[in-house]
Amino acid sequence: MRTRFAPSPTGALHIGGLRTALFNFLFAKKNNGEFFLRIEDTDKERSKKEWEIEIFDNLKKLGLNWDNRAERQSERGEIYKRYLEKMLKEGTAYYCFCTKEELDKEREDLMKLEKAPIHQGKYRDLGLENTLKKIEAGEKCVIRFKCPPNKDVVFNDLIRGEIKIHTSDVGDFVIAKDLNNPLYNFTCVVDDFEMGVTHIIRGEEHIPNTPKQILLGEVLGFTIPEFAHLSLILGKDKKKLSKREGSTAVSDYLKQGYLPEAIINFIAFLGWNPGTEKEIYSMDELIQDFSIEKISKSGAVFNIDKLDWMNGIYIRNIDIDELTQKCLPYLKQKEGIDNKKVVKAYRDRLKKLSEITEITSYLYEEELNYDKNLLIWKDMTVEEVKDSLKKALQLVENVEDISSENIQKQLVEEAKKAPSVGSFMWPLRVSLSGKKASAGPAEIIEIIGKEKSIKRINQAINSL
Ligand code: GLU
Repeated sequence: MRTRFAPSPTGALHIGGLRTALFNFLFAKKNNGEFFLRIEDTDKERSKKEWEIEIFDNLKKLGLNWDNRAERQSERGEIYKRYLEKMLKEGTAYYCFCTKEELDKEREDLMKLEKAPIHQGKYRDLGLENTLKKIEAGEKCVIRFKCPPNKDVVFNDLIRGEIKIHTSDVGDFVIAKDLNNPLYNFTCVVDDFEMGVTHIIRGEEHIPNTPKQILLGEVLGFTIPEFAHLSLILGKDKKKLSKREGSTAVSDYLKQGYLPEAIINFIAFLGWNPGTEKEIYSMDELIQDFSIEKISKSGAVFNIDKLDWMNGIYIRNIDIDELTQKCLPYLKQKEGIDNKKVVKAYRDRLKKLSEITEITSYLYEEELNYDKNLLIWKDMTVEEVKDSLKKALQLVENVEDISSENIQKQLVEEAKKAPSVGSFMWPLRVSLSGKKASAGPAEIIEIIGKEKSIKRINQAINSL
C-alpha cells in the first residue's frame, strides 16, 4: 500500500493538512506500506519555497517522516508533457480556442436555461489539421479533456460508500494551459500513477475532483486508486474551522509549547476514534489501532480545551530533565536559579510550555511590585499580618536545609500555631511571589534561595 500527502506550498501547514498527512501516514504504516510526500507547486505564482520548507520542517517535527525523496511537480514537467502529447494524439484531449468572452457568454446562457454551467466542447472535433492552422496563426488556446458522454462515474469511497457522478455534470474540463503548464487534476492523476499510489485520503473538498481524476486515469490506462474523503474540521460554532477560533497554522501550536506527541494524539482524534475509552495514544499505538472504517462521516469539532488537557498529560509524563530542556526557550535565565526546580514546581499546572514564562517571571525579578493589600488574608489586621510575616522571617533565617521538603515540614509546624493555616501561609506566599496564585512558599524559597527570600519577606513587612 502506498499513500501520499500532496500539499501545495502556498501557505503554512495547517491543522487540516496535518490531519490528512497523519491519516495517510498511519494507514500506510499500519499496512507496512509507504507514505510519500509530493509538493504540488504547479501554480508558479502562489507557490513559495519558504512554504515548502515550512511544511517539511513541521512534518519532521511531528514525526511524520516520508519515504523516498519528496517529489516536486515543478521538476516533473517532462513526464506531464509526455502524457499530454499522448492524450492529444489519441484524441482524448484537444486544443480549445474559446475566448474568455465566449466562455462567459456560454455560462450565462446555460444559467438562464437553469442548466449547470458545464462547457459544451465547441472545439472537441476540430481535427488535427484545423487545430494546427489555428495554433500557427497564433490563436490562444488551452488543452481540454474530452469527457466521455453519457456515462456514470462510480467509486466506492472508503468512508462515505458509493459516490456516483454523471459525466454530463463533469464536461470537458481544462487539463493544461499548454504542454508545459499542466493543471492540478491532470498532474495529480499522472503522479499518483507514476508514484504507485494505491490509496488517496484527502479532504472532502476534493470530492468534485475525484470523478475527473478517475476519468483521466481510465483513458490513460492507469489502475484507479482507492479514495477516502475526510469530513471537514469544524470550529466550536460548528462552522468550518478558520482563524476566527485562533490559529490554524501547525507551527503556531508548536511555538506555544504544545508537544508534538500531544498534537499528534489530538489530531488523530479529529474524525477518528478507536471505539474504546482510551484517549492517550502514542504514534506507535495509533499505527497499531488505526483503521479507515473507524473514521467518522460527520465533521470533527476542534476543541482546544481537549488539546490543552492532552498536552497537560504529556507534560506530566515526560522525564523532568527532558521537560526542563523543552521549557528552556520559555524561561528567563538567572544565575543562582535552577530552571529544573522551576519546572518541577510548575509542571502540574502547565497546559502548554509557553505559559511558564508569565507565571514564573516573579522568580527571576529583583524587586517585586504588587499591591500590599494582597498580603492580607481574609479579615486579618495589618498588625497580625506583620506578626505572621515576622515569624516566617525568623524561620527562614534559621533554616539550614533549604530543600522544599524540609521547609514545607517546618512551615506546616509553624502554621499549626497560627489561628489558621491560611493566616500563616498566605502572607508569606504573597511576600515571596507578589501574586494571587503561585507555587507554594517552600518551593519558592528553595528556588530563589534564602537571601532573596529574606529580602522579599522584609520588603513585605516594611511595606505594611
Ligand atoms: N494539492 C492539493 C491540496 O493541497 C492536493 C489534493 C490531493 O490530495 O489530491 O489540496
